[in-house]
Amino acid sequence: MSLLHYDLCVVGAGSGGIGAALAAARAGLSVLLLEKSDTLGGNAVRGGVHNWEPGVGGTDFAFEIYQRLRAIPGAVAITRTTRHCCAPLPGLPTYPGGEALPDPAATYLDTLQRHSAHEYSLVEKFGAMTPWRAVVFEPEAYSRVVAEMLAETGRCSVRFNTAFREVRVRDGHVESLILDNGDEVRAKFFVDSTADAKLCQAAGCELMRGQEGRDTFNEPDAPAQPSAKINAVTLIYRIMPRAHAAIDPLPPDVPAQCWWQASFPFSANFGYPNGDLNINMLPTMQGEEFLRLGYAAAYAECRRRVLAHWHFLQTHPDFPEFQRYTIHWIAPALGVRETVRVVGESILTQHDIAAGISRQTDPDLIALADHAMDRHGEGGGCVELKQPYGVPYRCLLPRGVDNLLVACRGASFSSISASSCRLSRTMLALGHAAGTACALAQKHTLPLRQVPVEELRQRLRAQNAELDWPRPPTAMKRLDEK
Ligand SMILES: Cc1cc2nc3c(=O)[nH]c(=O)nc-3n(C[C@H](O)[C@H](O)[C@H](O)COP(=O)(O)OP(=O)(O)OC[C@H]3O[C@@H](n4cnc5c(N)ncnc54)[C@H](O)[C@@H]3O)c2cc1C
Repeated sequence: MSLLHYDLCVVGAGSGGIGAALAAARAGLSVLLLEKSDTLGGNAVRGGVHNWEPGVGGTDFAFEIYQRLRAIPGAVAITRTTRHCCAPLPGLPTYPGGEALPDPAATYLDTLQRHSAHEYSLVEKFGAMTPWRAVVFEPEAYSRVVAEMLAETGRCSVRFNTAFREVRVRDGHVESLILDNGDEVRAKFFVDSTADAKLCQAAGCELMRGQEGRDTFNEPDAPAQPSAKINAVTLIYRIMPRAHAAIDPLPPDVPAQCWWQASFPFSANFGYPNGDLNINMLPTMQGEEFLRLGYAAAYAECRRRVLAHWHFLQTHPDFPEFQRYTIHWIAPALGVRETVRVVGESILTQHDIAAGISRQTDPDLIALADHAMDRHGEGGGCVELKQPYGVPYRCLLPRGVDNLLVACRGASFSSISASSCRLSRTMLALGHAAGTACALAQKHTLPLRQVPVEELRQRLRAQNAELDWPRPPTAMKRLDEK
């Protein structure tokens, strides 16, 4: 058993953790990044979310990752929506969801906006006229590029297959983590990027679960009463083309009919540069069922649903095209959109999202987002935004601890705002802010909640984080890759 000392320990190497570790190590801190799986990337790799949906804010680390991926043949592409069930093309059968395929004419800059100042018609939203472009990448290349970026800092150690079994907290200060193997990690600062705020939970921080009732934050779209509902989960799978048409055999224990809801769900299907398709059922399982079953049983059940969904696509008379593909990868991790969220110094709510950047007065906005408020599953809905909103630094500061930040989808968001503020590039940006805040706290010898926020914002801007809207022409010029 060893005693390890670092300036910063980041737990979880998904988008948030990568952003935090990279920012802090580049700023001169010694960083330990702990990851319980064997891969960098979290949901954006093991969960099968190998794409970045359109959105503001992907101008810093995300753009750097994209540029490095571009140097690797077949590692990345920009997609555009080509077919959608809500906007069928004349004379063709309805597509079983949405399809987005690589578009060589599209640029990274095209992917950097989701919101629109006007109401979309369905055709504008989903059809050939859609302004939406997304980034699709090969997961192994993504992990490799991120590993290179972390290694280049010379100050970041990554430990895979490692979780912690205990957190030692004294007087609101996290002193150390005891790892599974008994090693003790002491650090001046800790960042929780486990998605499910596991470090904050273990440190005794206050948490939010399920949907808040309307009384809690007075959010217009909150249910009258609180409920245990959470956003739904999806098990993503990947199919690859083959030369002949065939129907893959359905295992005997998997029914051909949909058994968990009235009919098979639609899916968002996007094309990789090599011609494979990524299939994202919307969704595979309701959030409450996931909570009831627990992770392992939910994964096993979702796997059966994947096989049934694939059989449906291959056997439906309208979609014979799927017989020219075969399933060849099912994500090893469930795509979980929401579990718990931490109560921070500020809580992002629907009011902040509705106000938007033009009316928010918080002095400490450290990231921009503009994804729709998008609740998958029963009683869900998707409300598009008319302008971006900012995320306050205080949403990363769990109440009651002075050297711990939360930079992941479990940050201090109401359930409604979490349905918007959760995209991979947004999590990278939250991590960027968290790692930079730790560096400033070290520089000024201050607790994290006293970090000078204007200096934090200046540093982030200097490192190409997007904090201003409309996007300044200088940023447009930098991002224009052609
Ligand atoms: C089905 C689905 C589809 C989505 N589609 C899109 C999309 O198209 N575009 C988009 O941009 N976003 C999409 N998102 C959202 C986005 O992918 C996630 O919200 C985002 O990746 C979450 O990042 P994170 O850093 O919070 O967590 P994660 O990426 O989940 O990373 C958490 C990491 O922490 C590790 N970990 C957990 N516990 C421990 C522990 N105790 N010790 C050490 N490590 C630990 C995990 O192994 C994991 O690597 C989607 C999400 C889902 C679920």
